[in-house]
Amino acid sequence: MLQGLHLPGRTRPTARDVYRSEIGERVDWLLPQHKWEKGKDRPGILICPRCHAISTQKRWFLDEDRYQQLRATPGVQFVICTGCRRIEHQVYEGIVQLRSPLLLANKRQAMALIHHEEDKARRTNPFSRLASVVDHGATIDILTTTYWLAERIGKAFHKSFKGSLDLQRLPNERFVRVRWER
Ligand SMILES: [Zn+2]
Repeated sequence: MLQGLHLPGRTRPTARDVYRSEIGERVDWLLPQHKWEKGKDRPGILICPRCHAISTQKRWFLDEDRYQQLRATPGVQFVICTGCRRIEHQVYEGIVQLRSPLLLANKRQAMALIHHEEDKARRTNPFSRLASVVDHGATIDILTTTYWLAERIGKAFHKSFKGSLDLQRLPNERFVRVRWER
């Protein structure tokens, strides 16, 4: 399923896409994908120019007013944060498939719910991001950068629309497959 999903606007396959088509989804864990996440614990104040996350004392959080102040402050370092890097490197921890005829009639509400869960999740963990949301009408496919966000979206749909929810954690992997149907 992952093979068929591409980020909007992406036209050329990445190395990861090529490996994935050869050996399947396990590529996401077999490749040393977290190498580029090393060094994230740099001291000082870091800000991400893409999503406006801020890191002080090695902890990332969101605060737009503070970001606007910091971007003009000498000594503050501009760094692409882990969430933005995961999206760029196409590293996902969750895949969500929502499937229901209800989605057709409630598309705005459904999309708002998905983005609302991302907003809430980002307040606690700025790396929880929607990497891709693809609307197929009665089905919506979502990729997330943390498994936590994928689970939250599934639970939110289950709570709002009832139906059935299936959360499948892969053993020993940081990955979850979430299916909601009604
Ligand atoms: Zn960022």
